[in-house]
Amino acid sequence: MPDHAPSHAPSHAPPDVPPRILPALTEHNRAFWTGGAHGQLLIAWCAACARWVHPPAPDCPECNGALAARPVSGHATVFSYTVNHQPFNPAVPVPYVVAIVELDEQPDLRIATNIVGCDPDSVHVGLPVEVGFERHDVGDDAVFVPVFTPR
Ligand SMILES: [Zn+2]
Repeated sequence: MPDHAPSHAPSHAPPDVPPRILPALTEHNRAFWTGGAHGQLLIAWCAACARWVHPPAPDCPECNGALAARPVSGHATVFSYTVNHQPFNPAVPVPYVVAIVELDEQPDLRIATNIVGCDPDSVHVGLPVEVGFERHDVGDDAVFVPVFTPR
C-alpha cells in the first residue's frame, strides 16, 4: 500500500553551508539579517543626516535621528582580511577568509563578513566584491548571513 504522506525535507542547512554561530534577532538588526530572503542587503539609513549606519542601532549615532533599513547595492571592496587556517570548529573547513568590507555607498560603511567562492590566496585589499546570502534556519526564523564573492 503506497504511502501518500508528503515527505519532509530536513530543515537544517544544506551541507555546503558551513555551520555558524548565528546572531540573536532584535527589532534593530532583523532587517540586516533577514533582507537576504528577498536578495537585499538592508542597511540602516538616517534620513535626517543622510548617512548609512552599521552595525544596526536604535537611532543615529550622529544626530539621534530615526533609522530605517534600506537596500544597498551589495557592492563593496575588501578593506582588510585574514585567512584563517586554524580549525576552531571541526565542521568548518579551513582555510577561510574573514574580512571587513567597505560598502560602495559610504566610505566608512564597513561590515565584518567572509569572502567565499574563491581561492583564499586570491583575496587582497581593494578586491571588488558583491554580496550573497547563506540561509540558516533557526527554529521558525531564517537568518540570511551576508557573505561576499569577487565580482
Ligand atoms: Zn543622523
